Amino acid sequence: MELNKLTVTEAQEGLAAKKFSAVELTEACLRQVAARDSELNAFITVSDELAFAEAAAADQALANGTAQPLTGIPFSVKDAICTLGVRSTGAAKILDNYLPPFESTVISRLRAAGAVLVGKTNCDAFGHGASNENSMYGPVKNPYDTSKVAGGSSGGSAAAVADNMCLFSVAEDTGGSIRYPASLCGVVGLRPSYGRTSRYGSMPMGSSLDTVGPITKTAADAALIMNIIAGQDSRDATTVPDPVPDYLREIKQAITGLKIGIPKEYFEVAELNPTVQNVFDSTVERLTALGATFVPVSLPHTKYAVATYYIIVPCEDSSNLARLDGLRYGVRAPGTTLEEVYSRSRALGFPEEVKRRILIGTYALSAGYYDAYYKKAQAVRTLIKQDFDEVFTSVDALLAPTAPSPAFGLGEKQNDPLALYLADILVSPASLAGVPALSMPAGSTPEGLPIGMQLIGPRLGEGRILQIAHQFAKV
Ligand code: GLN
Repeated sequence: MELNKLTVTEAQEGLAAKKFSAVELTEACLRQVAARDSELNAFITVSDELAFAEAAAADQALANGTAQPLTGIPFSVKDAICTLGVRSTGAAKILDNYLPPFESTVISRLRAAGAVLVGKTNCDAFGHGASNENSMYGPVKNPYDTSKVAGGSSGGSAAAVADNMCLFSVAEDTGGSIRYPASLCGVVGLRPSYGRTSRYGSMPMGSSLDTVGPITKTAADAALIMNIIAGQDSRDATTVPDPVPDYLREIKQAITGLKIGIPKEYFEVAELNPTVQNVFDSTVERLTALGATFVPVSLPHTKYAVATYYIIVPCEDSSNLARLDGLRYGVRAPGTTLEEVYSRSRALGFPEEVKRRILIGTYALSAGYYDAYYKKAQAVRTLIKQDFDEVFTSVDALLAPTAPSPAFGLGEKQNDPLALYLADILVSPASLAGVPALSMPAGSTPEGLPIGMQLIGPRLGEGRILQIAHQFAKV
């Protein structure tokens, strides 16, 4: 048995039944990293020493009856999320040497639950991108075809899970960064509702959209991880006090009688690859066979989502990134004046896309333009959110593709930022509305490239979309 291929649930059972040890499980994952990562480039930092120490401690906990729900389960974390004492670069050279003196809340909850950190995964710098080609540590390659992108921005996390280098990963989704690479790599990725999981310790990008969530092999594993990471955090004032349901219990219910909406605009705004359309149709058929009913619905402001997103996010980005000045964190370039140090450190430490967003954001927030751009975009965002509020009065969830096409070639869109922004067309609306959405593997192209389908739920309706994904995977 190749232990690294297990799901979290299977590994939990195997560890409890003493079929293998936590050290053996960690070894299996790290062997896969050693065998494959020089090609895939999914990791920026592999924390093997720490992982073995934690796995040995996990074996002790298993032996003396003090095991927690995730004791001995190897996982990885997107490098834009801070891990105590483990290098966290955000995939930008300005933080090349950054060792956070604190742990993000989500990661400390997972580690308290016994999970074993195997390393930090590659991503687009600070989460900016849809192809994972904007990393200053090189692009991530798709495990199914290494001439293709893994998707972004959390491409390393999705590739690491898809290639069995760890059992699950934790990533961040502002405008699709969990769902999009999950779709291209054939794994499950859940973006929770805004405020359901803590953002504390996740490098801020678009603070009013950022969420932290799991990338897993199955929807059941995502439910399991959500049971541990979701919930209010005194260090993030935007987390909500609503009680966290038992997602593992919720997913077990049959989906008979659920009403799922098909948002017609999603099929108008994006030029869908015909194979994606076929996989969508077969997903509808399979869910219908399980007892769900489908109705057409309308989200009329969908066509403004990408334009709105690419005003709001660069504005918030430009403000958030101001703290990276070469003085307080990370790498400092030499200079004789303060201004020289700032500009040289930032010039060397940020890739082109980060600079582009700082310029767009600073411009849109400047006096005279704020009302025309940022304020206007916020008004349109409210309309987009109202579309979702309205539609969820009549349906339980929405189904649409996650990405308009399967994984594209490395370098294919690299010189066309607008083409990459448009890749977000189907994932950005839910982000702007703050509602939960997940991508689940639903089929593949004749060449074997995965295709994911997206389920979108009402605010705090993570249980509902996990339930549909779990029941779908069972047939
Ligand atoms: N493609 C989106 C962007 O570049 C993804 C961002 C994210 O979710 N972190 O902004």
